[in-house]
Amino acid sequence: MNSLDDVISCVSGYDPNALPVAKANEVIRSFVTPVAGVEKLPVRAALGRVLAKDIVSPINVPSHDNSAMDGYAVRSDDLGAGEPVTLTEIGTAYAGREFSGEVKRGQCARVMTGAVMPKNTDTVIIQEAVTVAGNRISIPPGQDRGQNRRLAGEDLAKGKSALKAGRLLRPADLGLLASLGFGTVSVRRKLKVAFFSTGDELVSVAKKLKAGEVYDSNRYTLWGMLERLGCDVIDLGVVRDDPKKLEAAFRKAAAGADAVVTSGGVSVGEADFTKQMMAKLGEVAFWKIAMRPGRPMAFGRIRGRGKSAYLFGLPGNPVAVMVTFYHFVRGALLHMAGRSDTELPLLRAKSQTAMRKKPGRTEYQRGILELKDGEWTVRLTGAQGSGILRSMSEANCFVVLGHEQGSVAAGDYVEVMLMDGLV
Ligand code: AMP
Ligand code: MG
Repeated sequence: MNSLDDVISCVSGYDPNALPVAKANEVIRSFVTPVAGVEKLPVRAALGRVLAKDIVSPINVPSHDNSAMDGYAVRSDDLGAGEPVTLTEIGTAYAGREFSGEVKRGQCARVMTGAVMPKNTDTVIIQEAVTVAGNRISIPPGQDRGQNRRLAGEDLAKGKSALKAGRLLRPADLGLLASLGFGTVSVRRKLKVAFFSTGDELVSVAKKLKAGEVYDSNRYTLWGMLERLGCDVIDLGVVRDDPKKLEAAFRKAAAGADAVVTSGGVSVGEADFTKQMMAKLGEVAFWKIAMRPGRPMAFGRIRGRGKSAYLFGLPGNPVAVMVTFYHFVRGALLHMAGRSDTELPLLRAKSQTAMRKKPGRTEYQRGILELKDGEWTVRLTGAQGSGILRSMSEANCFVVLGHEQGSVAAGDYVEVMLMDGLV
């Protein structure tokens, strides 16, 4: 296992006091490693879990050539090039039932969708296209050889890779596993993530606020984000800004979890005592990241009761905690959970308004992506202060303004990252 210093020394241009987002992610991603541990689950219970082993198809899906339509199965050699032909129907092939008839020259068989192609046939004429007179079936010219026939193995071929380890299992994957006949599937164990809020000013919900106090909202956003990522979430509550209490909380968290996520206590005014404590607990770097919102952040590995956990010390501001979670912690936790696909796409949208932006930092403004006059456009949710949680609640995307980028004029194209998707 590499030390954090080793990892950092490999990152060129590392400056903890003005660290570009990409460099911070480089350090994080080279430091965290996937957890070991696999469990076998019934297919449905594996929804939202990470596939642990490659799946190779044990069978062909479909298992036989079959009809894609209701109609008539014919021998394509019997079909006329420019004129209609009339064939004799010898019976009906149904899906899931064996059809013993053999289609000889000049004959055809009625077929239902999904029925195995009757012997000697290779083409299906849809029933709407033919003229029926008793068992005499007239077929117009212009049919294509092989049409309306599904080939054995065209969905999944026996012996070929069906699903790769490291993917998130979605509804289609459950269906795919079922189509191969699997009743169970091996998935990575869930990641255990402990989290707590720090701050003397924090009050838990449903209590009365006194002057200067605020409700602890970060424990709700953090809980929600961790749950959505599919972690086993351990809520350690609110911890006061008291070195002894904080140390005990960190030790407990490290002992019981793979990763620890905290909010607050890493800003300049508070970082000093956190730094001293972290030096006792493990190896932790304190960063000022070149980004907005969410400048201060701590990252490393801490120990407790002989165990260790990765630490993400996020800033306390409600928007900053979410932005740093999505853009640093999310990818790291997914990597730890064994996911191979952690990147999210950036889409281009036309900005409805101007946006002020200084080069030399990455900004994650909160936006609303909407279709206007046939084009995807984006506008900001209003005030973008790092304490304005409403901006996250109203947004459906981040407007990602890259490190080098300057101000945006109305009508310019910007990159956006969607917050929700089809799941
Ligand atoms: P800190 O990073 O601890 O200096 O906190 C920065 C700001 O975020 C302060 O205004 C805090 O009151 C606020 N804050 C910190 N933690 C929370 C929390 N858990 N819920 C809501 N606001 C918080
Ligand atoms: Mg604080």
